Amino acid sequence: MTLGLFFILAVFVFGLLIGSFLNVVILRLPAGETLFGRSACPRCGHVLTPRDLIPIFSFLFLRGRCRSCQEKISWRYFFIELLTACVFVSALLFVNPVALPSFFHLGILWVAGAVGIVTFIVDMEHYIILDIVTFVGVVFVLVFSLCLDIFVHSSSFVTGYTIHALLGAVAGFLPFFALWWFSAGRWIGFGDVKFMLFVGAVAGFPLVFISMLFSFWIGALVSLPLLFLGRKGLKSKLPFGTFLTLGMATSLLFGTPLLSWYTSLIVMK
Ligand SMILES: [Zn+2]
Repeated sequence: MTLGLFFILAVFVFGLLIGSFLNVVILRLPAGETLFGRSACPRCGHVLTPRDLIPIFSFLFLRGRCRSCQEKISWRYFFIELLTACVFVSALLFVNPVALPSFFHLGILWVAGAVGIVTFIVDMEHYIILDIVTFVGVVFVLVFSLCLDIFVHSSSFVTGYTIHALLGAVAGFLPFFALWWFSAGRWIGFGDVKFMLFVGAVAGFPLVFISMLFSFWIGALVSLPLLFLGRKGLKSKLPFGTFLTLGMATSLLFGTPLLSWYTSLIVMK
């Protein structure tokens, strides 16, 4: 069955709406504000009405300015909405769901995308990882994994998705906990340790190792030039959660071929 164009379009619009929600999460939670209540222009206090809140279109129609005072609105809101929609549609095409269980698989990828986008940006901007986002993400992934075990007939709980997710979470958590413990929190923050529960649950066991490996590689690739250029010192803070989300994305996209490549290297020795 090929996916209908209408269905793809519906997922794109759904992604835009989720992206719009992620913007609110990214803006408000690090500032200690709640998700409830209407958004307003930070300059003139104009409370945004539904016609200001249509993803992408409001921004384009208002040419990126407040309707009331013409204050510039950051491109970031527009970009995050579009990015979320693109991630959601890509995941749909990647999974190509034909039966009920594959929709749970798709759900896991959507949660990974949404939590990944929030953590990528919030950690880069504030050097924190939001506990509530990590926790809600873990719960979603475990529930979807349980549904997969229930609805995939060949799957048993002993070898199934939930066990893979739980094992992945533990395998992701423990090494990071050790790093945090032995460095007394100087190398990584405890937020990173907790976030590895999520990364591990999404990637599963043993792909969580690919995601860890690539987080370190990507982190090194980004930090070394910054160190070299003097933009960062050895003691500078780095948004490690940002690298963890990139490592997670790598394991989701290329995890299986990368893992067999690595194991083939080890076996040849
Ligand atoms: Zn305004």
